[in-house]
Amino acid sequence: MKPYLYLSGLKNLVNEITGCEVVHIGIRPYGFHAGNAMALIVYPYLLCKYLEDYGKAPKIQFIISINDWEQDTLDGPDYRKYPFNIYPKNTSLQFTPDESGCCKSTVDHWQPMIENNLNKIKNRFKEISFKFVRNSELISYPYCEKLLIETIKNPKDQLKILKKYSGKDALDEPVSYAGVICPKCRRSHGKTTVVKNNLIQWKCSNCGTRAKDTFKNFQYWWYHKPMLIARIRIFKIDITLSGGDHFSEEDFKIREALIKKYSPKTKEPKMIFTPTVVALNGEKMSKSRNNIAFADIKKLISATANFDDKNFYITQDLILDKLDEKDYSSIF
Ligand SMILES: [Zn+2]
Ligand SMILES: [Zn+2]
Repeated sequence: MKPYLYLSGLKNLVNEITGCEVVHIGIRPYGFHAGNAMALIVYPYLLCKYLEDYGKAPKIQFIISINDWEQDTLDGPDYRKYPFNIYPKNTSLQFTPDESGCCKSTVDHWQPMIENNLNKIKNRFKEISFKFVRNSELISYPYCEKLLIETIKNPKDQLKILKKYSGKDALDEPVSYAGVICPKCRRSHGKTTVVKNNLIQWKCSNCGTRAKDTFKNFQYWWYHKPMLIARIRIFKIDITLSGGDHFSEEDFKIREALIKKYSPKTKEPKMIFTPTVVALNGEKMSKSRNNIAFADIKKLISATANFDDKNFYITQDLILDKLDEKDYSSIF
């Protein structure tokens, strides 16, 4: 298969589909800065609009993954140079406190806003639907259990694939792509061992807790690349919609290889990638780089509909200084 890139990729994709597909979008549950909005709002909106323009009724089922199993912040010996020798700095997003202090976790803070804003697209395209799923809800699916246990047991098999297709350097250690979150102190640092079948053992290097229990009785963190394969299989995903940074990291080839190795009977989804939003300072816009800006979504949609390249440079006229992140209702 081939990747579908940017605007011309989106139009080619719309030509090939019926409008009833299942589309997957993953989000780290943070805000709606222009970088996030590109994959989360602008491209879904344009996908539906072009379907309509091409005479196909948009009835897309969007599966929105709330990535609460991801690392709170990436850490590792040098995570820019060795992007596959990584682990959570403290814990998973599921157990990351809400910065604003009003909710139990950052996920509880952002998820209602994500749902509220995305549901607004339904005002314009009545027959589409959104299903919001936290990664941590996947634990009851047998395939999730199987692949997560495999990830804990044999992370070096996954490193081989990541290294081969990304062309990036990697160290021999540390290599782990999933692990237990301590039931006592909620930190991720420690040793997770699969004793046998679905029996898991945990030894916390933060608080010293030792625990042995069946798989379902622990909470986990899990690196998003192998985790996506579980989501594709469980939700029978036809199309993945991702930010352009994933294409730059060679996720197109990596996903193909992971599916082939871990779920060979799964149909490979069509993969569309959006442009990467570049901030005013010339770097990729992201919360961790502290260079976010909020866009006027209507203007961002118009500008994106005339843009077919890798890096979308945000300009001052697209930026809204005063924006209510909780409610984008005015745009639809
Ligand atoms: Zn809150
Ligand atoms: Zn602990």
